Amino acid sequence: MEEKFSALSEIYTAFERETAPFREAAACTRGCAFCCAEAGSIDVVTLEGLAIGNAIARMPRPRQRALQKAVEKDVRGRQQGLRSPCPFLLKNATCAVYPVRPFPCRRIFSLHRCSRERPPVIHRKVMERSEEAIRTLRRLDDTGYAGHISAVLLLLADPDFLSVYRSGDFRPERVAAYGKRHGMRINR
Ligand code: SF4
Repeated sequence: MEEKFSALSEIYTAFERETAPFREAAACTRGCAFCCAEAGSIDVVTLEGLAIGNAIARMPRPRQRALQKAVEKDVRGRQQGLRSPCPFLLKNATCAVYPVRPFPCRRIFSLHRCSRERPPVIHRKVMERSEEAIRTLRRLDDTGYAGHISAVLLLLADPDFLSVYRSGDFRPERVAAYGKRHGMRINR
């Protein structure tokens, strides 16, 4: 698993290095959480979910419980067709898991200040490079799945699934019903 985490980190680093000129020209600033509140679905792969879960496990217990409750609430809401901000968005508009934020949170930097009327505008070259990085992520996590951040976190909270996933085994039939319910996809 450690090798996979290193490879994950390299994918993030390569993307950040290759898109640096575009990021410097972006209007995004600390404290602007437009994407975190309005993105709708924040698609992550299982490996990214595991990195987030590991980071949460190192937090103080009350913070862990609060984030767990936020994840569960988000999943329940989505099943009822409700959209909600990312469960990791804090009241001060910062991210509770910033050092391990997943790729969707790293790829979006807008050329203008966003609002509901003016959604993010992203340079075409950044979009193309993003698509390439996503394909690489899915190849890396080839025994895993992709889906909304909360659904992935909740799946990883299932000890049976976690044990199979950590072992490197691939048994999609065991998560088929959950995956279908939460709009998840198989990476391989
Ligand atoms: S994980 Fe963090 S950066 Fe990403 S959408 Fe959620 S709050 Fe925002």
